[in-house]
Amino acid sequence: MEYIYSDYFNGKPQITDKKQQIFGIVLHDDAENMAAKDYIAWLEEREQQGCLEKGWASIYVDKDTCYWFHPIEYVEWHCGNRFANEHYVGIERCQSKIDGVLSDAQFKENEEASFALAAQILKEQQLPVNRDTIRLHREFFDTACPARAWQMHVNDDEDTLVNRARLKDYFISRIQSYYEHV
Ligand SMILES: [Zn+2]
Repeated sequence: MEYIYSDYFNGKPQITDKKQQIFGIVLHDDAENMAAKDYIAWLEEREQQGCLEKGWASIYVDKDTCYWFHPIEYVEWHCGNRFANEHYVGIERCQSKIDGVLSDAQFKENEEASFALAAQILKEQQLPVNRDTIRLHREFFDTACPARAWQMHVNDDEDTLVNRARLKDYFISRIQSYYEHV
């Protein structure tokens, strides 16, 4: 795994204010074919065009690369929901487009990288791994996100609380397997 850090880790003024408190993590599926490294130029362009408010997360991950765009202690624009932006860390799982560049088996490798990262962050934040700390974008906003995971792990079933819990429990069990060894 290659870790790449943006200039925001090297003295560049932060985009946002600090989060008051971190409650947990939101795992996003980006619904794109872009690899984590592709987001470096993509975010730079958004920044130059002054349209970062369209959205960004702290971290972009695929199986090879972890791009840390912005420190997790700061508010992010990843959920379209103020409370979530101010209290949760966004992990953008790259190349998640359905019928895109990756097969399900290949996307699973990206997912595993996101789970390991989530475990590391929760451990550092001294937070447990449970349904309160692992959240879905669709819990905060009218979105299909995480659409690829929903298709793979809930068979694209109805968007009910039971099915949301099913997906979260899958995330939790995978994250737990890393958490124990961080
Ligand atoms: Zn999302």
